[in-house]
Amino acid sequence: MSSFEFTDADRAFLAREVLPFLPDRIFDAHAHLFCHEHYPADTIPPGLASTPPRLGLAEYAALMEWLHPGGRVVGGLFFGLAFLGDRQANNEFVSAEVNGSAPLAARSRGQMIISPQMDAETILDEARRLGLTGLKCYHTMASATPTWLAPIEAYLPEAHVAAADTLGLTITLHMVRDRALADPINQATIRRYCASYPNMRLILAHAARGFNPWHTIEGIESLRGLENVWFDTSAVTEAGAFEAIVETMGHGKLMYGTDFHVSHIRGRCVAIGDSFHWLYAEEMNLDEKHTSLQPVLIGLESLRSLRLACQRLKLNEQQIEDIFYRNAAALLDIV
Ligand SMILES: [Zn+2]
Repeated sequence: MSSFEFTDADRAFLAREVLPFLPDRIFDAHAHLFCHEHYPADTIPPGLASTPPRLGLAEYAALMEWLHPGGRVVGGLFFGLAFLGDRQANNEFVSAEVNGSAPLAARSRGQMIISPQMDAETILDEARRLGLTGLKCYHTMASATPTWLAPIEAYLPEAHVAAADTLGLTITLHMVRDRALADPINQATIRRYCASYPNMRLILAHAARGFNPWHTIEGIESLRGLENVWFDTSAVTEAGAFEAIVETMGHGKLMYGTDFHVSHIRGRCVAIGDSFHWLYAEEMNLDEKHTSLQPVLIGLESLRSLRLACQRLKLNEQQIEDIFYRNAAALLDIV
């Protein structure tokens, strides 16, 4: 089974689990746009090779019909993915897309990939020049090894946060370290950055990297009271982290996101012990003892998990629409 196809299992799952819950208007607060050519020859990471070679707004809009049919997505917060490839070209591409003439562009914003080595002045100049309203850091560009244990400062230096503060930029942060938000070192940095730079708006990706929901459940209290922190739901396929965020920070802080193209890979993430594990259909034995497994797209799994959280928290229609559109629209000044 290859990635990037919409199967009968997906169609049935969408109709049964997602459509009864889905609002008519959706803003995607976490999505990647890129082209294969942004990766040096033969270095396209595994799993990307099966994607279309160009993923701009038009391709994005067409593929989003798999998750939310009927043209529901009206805009998004987009950024590149070529963290170790041609970042400059990827940033230029995102800039051209979100500032271009595609129907989605009017209500979309872009963030710029930044490496920790960049100086703050260059970041500000580039953000202005490219018409991008936020920054996207990522641990793989840190010089610490292994990068997945890096403290936030190693891939989001304080000078970059201070720069974001001067222009009121957003920053999407996918934190790492084993226990994510349950890690006191991560907690302390997030609190310090948000308190010191109130004009910077921090978006904690993947429900504060709550792929293991217990980490967000355990750590969310540490962020209580911070006003300039938000969370996106992207690629999280369990409900617990969403519930913890809404209960502690309020539903106004949670924003729906797909993590496109990850949303279109087949599988899901599960908590295992104090860690988590990605199950990809391509690597699974789909004919187990008693049944035949029918994995669906990660984006569909994530939508069902968000539905579960909203149901258990008894959120009303208005609040669900906030999570799918208004929270992000308010944060990003979208009318
Ligand atoms: Zn992402």
